[in-house]
Amino acid sequence: MTDQLINQSTSYPLKIGFTTSFPVEIIFAAGHIPIDLNNIFITGNAQKFVEIAEYKGFPRNICSWIKGMFGVALETDIDAVIGIVEGDCSNTHSLMETLEDEKIKVIPFSFNFGRNREKLEKEIKELEKRFAVSHQAVLKTKNMLDKIRRKLIILDEITYRENKITGLENHLWLVNSSDFEGNPKKFEKRLDKFLSEAKSRKPIKTEFRLGFLGVPPIITDLYDFLLEQNANVVFNEIQRQFSMPYLEKDIVTQYLRYTYPYSVNHRLQDILVEIKKRKLDAVLSYTQSFCHRQIDNILLKKYIDLPILTIEGDQPGKLDARTKLRIESFLDMLRY
Ligand code: SF4
Repeated sequence: MTDQLINQSTSYPLKIGFTTSFPVEIIFAAGHIPIDLNNIFITGNAQKFVEIAEYKGFPRNICSWIKGMFGVALETDIDAVIGIVEGDCSNTHSLMETLEDEKIKVIPFSFNFGRNREKLEKEIKELEKRFAVSHQAVLKTKNMLDKIRRKLIILDEITYRENKITGLENHLWLVNSSDFEGNPKKFEKRLDKFLSEAKSRKPIKTEFRLGFLGVPPIITDLYDFLLEQNANVVFNEIQRQFSMPYLEKDIVTQYLRYTYPYSVNHRLQDILVEIKKRKLDAVLSYTQSFCHRQIDNILLKKYIDLPILTIEGDQPGKLDARTKLRIESFLDMLRY
């Protein structure tokens, strides 16, 4: 079905939604537009997208991101959805099936749990074949994207070395690099402008340097609230992973080093290095209600030797009073 889809020349370029970061180089190299459904969800009318899914029967106790992506796929002009069926979310299988039932084309992609190189290479090759693009063209596209990723590394360094970028700005740039907002050239131009403006800023003075661990927050004012409380986030763990910060020459190695789809131990190796490098005072471990990754938090708390506050988000929207109080108390505890 999907092969038929990519052979249709009438709707070129195709808009290809996806559920989490994957080798996006393939879609750009094939001349199509990748769209991270998460980004459309959280920057759009998020509550409406969740309601669309619930109206279709998605249960209350299923993560809002899954419902949001379902709503986005239904409401947005998308030709197909690439679902990361292994390495991301335990709900993606069912999401794909419900989308298929809504006549949306779905394409599976897997990051195997064992981080096996041959298996990942096979997945990448299959996706290249499906989109009728050569490996050489994909590598050429990777070089072009790596040029932008190099600038995102600079942005991240300005955040934690020079303190000139807020946690929210850092979060937005890194999270949006999952699909380069569908247009790498435009993204790079905007990034250049931002970098030259940020470099000329005075350092942000805060009492605390925080790390943010876990999936990007569904809470919209978390970073602003932290800044009001004199704390800036200088490490956004998963968002940084979406920006593929290791600049590996080989595409398979790049997606093997990407920590998010693999084990929590793999994530921890990266987190522990960055905590030291960025001289963090404490970390917030974000979990999403009804997410299996809440279990990973047990190991994060066990192996990270810094004060950790676990925050749970449920519906899209602003911080609730209870979480604000918990953050305030946590920061007070760090003070005294
Ligand atoms: S937050 Fe957890 S449950 Fe929700 S989509 Fe992400 S991985 Fe799945």
